[in-house]
Amino acid sequence: MSILLIDNATVLVTMDDERREIKNGAIVTRDKAIEAVGSSDEMVSVLGDRGLVADRHIDASGCILMPGLVNCHHHLYQTLTRSIGTAEGKSLFDWLQTLYPIWGQMDAAAVYISAKLGLAELMLAGATTVADHLYLFPNGARLDDEIRAARELGVRFHPTRGSMSLGQSQGGLPPDDICEDELDILADCERVIAEFHDPGRYSMLRIGLAPCSPFSVSAELMRNTAALARRHPGVNLHTHLAETIDENRFCETRFGMRPLQYMQSLGWTGEDVWFAHMVHPDSKEISMLADTRSGVCHCPSSNMILASGIAPVREMVDAQVRVGLGVDGSASNDGNHLLGEARQAMLLQRVGWPGFESSAARFGAREALELATRGGAAVLGRDDIGSLEPGKAADLVAYRVDGIQHAGAGGDLVAGLLTCAPVNAWLTVINGRVVLEQGEITGLDLPDLINQHNQQAQRLLQMSAA
Ligand SMILES: [Zn+2]
Repeated sequence: MSILLIDNATVLVTMDDERREIKNGAIVTRDKAIEAVGSSDEMVSVLGDRGLVADRHIDASGCILMPGLVNCHHHLYQTLTRSIGTAEGKSLFDWLQTLYPIWGQMDAAAVYISAKLGLAELMLAGATTVADHLYLFPNGARLDDEIRAARELGVRFHPTRGSMSLGQSQGGLPPDDICEDELDILADCERVIAEFHDPGRYSMLRIGLAPCSPFSVSAELMRNTAALARRHPGVNLHTHLAETIDENRFCETRFGMRPLQYMQSLGWTGEDVWFAHMVHPDSKEISMLADTRSGVCHCPSSNMILASGIAPVREMVDAQVRVGLGVDGSASNDGNHLLGEARQAMLLQRVGWPGFESSAARFGAREALELATRGGAAVLGRDDIGSLEPGKAADLVAYRVDGIQHAGAGGDLVAGLLTCAPVNAWLTVINGRVVLEQGEITGLDLPDLINQHNQQAQRLLQMSAA
């Protein structure tokens, strides 16, 4: 048994049903789970009353202590191609066509090193659970390569086995040579579920299945993937949807339906489904998302960089749609800072909404923090993470708020996490293990990781230029 006591936090943000915020807050964790949450004095009594002795005590004075952040959409491999195409400002389809040939040069080592770097950067910013969407497997790369990276770092991981099968010769967007045969895709989905998926409480790894988008896989693969996932409890379904107006047009022209209608016709709505983006749903589609309990991952930076548009997050949240946050693939964001992404979400809901008298009040800092924590947990179908409550997984993050960024923000330090410049985590606990201390990931040689990652990135550029 391992007992950890963290106390004296300036404010402990529980994100529980009452959204309690506790001044001079403290938490006790026992093995993988949270034992108790309250004031520092109360936690001393809890330890005494229950006959527990802390194996480790961490003083979190000067910190906001809160649930670890949950990232619901990413393409970790894209950290290898940051800033290509994003500088000029390409739109989604042009940007993808620039990058497909470069990504086609990746191999197992590239997938591993990029996942390790992207996950490390997310952890440094306070993420404790990460969903990733890997949808191309060139030169022998496998989902296993990113799983290895996540296990080494100790992050809670939801890798999704993605796929592309509709090449250009069949009217799809990606080049034929990075698409896979549909039978091979389904066989590999079965394999990774059998090998890695853990549906249990406090699971550190759940597999999801994720055909890339309506414009890169066939309807049949979508249907078959859903049927396969539903034979395995806890294997959820994920894809990109309604990201751009171009995509809405593609669906209307090719299928005679709007994107969400098309997904529904394939059996792709429900509690076990979450869509990345949903930038362009109409009001009917928002109701459909709520009625079917389908989830949405909002990726504000990506939507801005690619000029995809502004997702109606306010409307979706008000309609009780499950909404979480994602940094999205690095090449369409170039940053892996989920706290920064929560700030972007808050800001983006405040601009460009004509007709609202008080646009600035449209979205609050606490609501954005909620998207990044319990919102993300709900999107990933997890009732054991996302808030600090007894019985939940011991996943938490502490941010220092006594530095220069927060000087003068004493009036509301919790809001200051997003209204001031986003900082990195000072302490992170995942599954009851301290994985980051004093801002550094335990046991990680970061300069070496960056060096290896840069070598791989350079190799890809050289090969694709040759
Ligand atoms: Zn994406």
